[in-house]
Amino acid sequence: MSKDMLDKLSLRTGRRSFLKMAALGGAVAGTSLVASSGAVRDATEEEVKDPFPGSKLVKTVCTTCSVGCGIIAEVQNGVWVRQEVAQDHPFSQGSHCAKGIDSIDTVKSAKRVKHPLKKVDGKWQRISWDQAINEIGDKMLELRKESPDTAMFLGSAKISTEQSYYFRKFAAMWGTNNIDHQARI
Ligand code: SF4
Repeated sequence: MSKDMLDKLSLRTGRRSFLKMAALGGAVAGTSLVASSGAVRDATEEEVKDPFPGSKLVKTVCTTCSVGCGIIAEVQNGVWVRQEVAQDHPFSQGSHCAKGIDSIDTVKSAKRVKHPLKKVDGKWQRISWDQAINEIGDKMLELRKESPDTAMFLGSAKISTEQSYYFRKFAAMWGTNNIDHQARI
């Protein structure tokens, strides 16, 4: 593939997706069996030009921290399908940190945890939200009887500024100053 085509493709897909596609392309190219089986085909010219027909570009911000770096979200039929940096954003000016550059994975990643899990005999089992809330609530109340300081609230770099606000309020209501951010450990 010519450098010109690589440049165009990386611009259309976004750098991160382009690297993933390049890695996938390398793996597929190395497997002649897959290529000759007819299981894959070349994208049509229309698909390369416009992989998400009818999509809209929406200017938004990364919510992972209070900087609020600019993101251009591509949305197709109400679904966030692709992301690019907002080059003209006044704070981030076309840049992102490692968390923001892959914000779309917080909703699209196949590894995203979508329901509560409980480890039983060394294995993770899916449980209902009611069971999770009741079991965690009961254990917390049991701890609190001893002292509110028996609990430690540990925030996450993957929760938003607004979620962090509620998290801090919850620790205060609980009655402890044992609250910190996971980055500090
Ligand atoms: S991209 Fe990084 S620095 Fe910018 S808002 Fe998101 S988490 Fe904060």
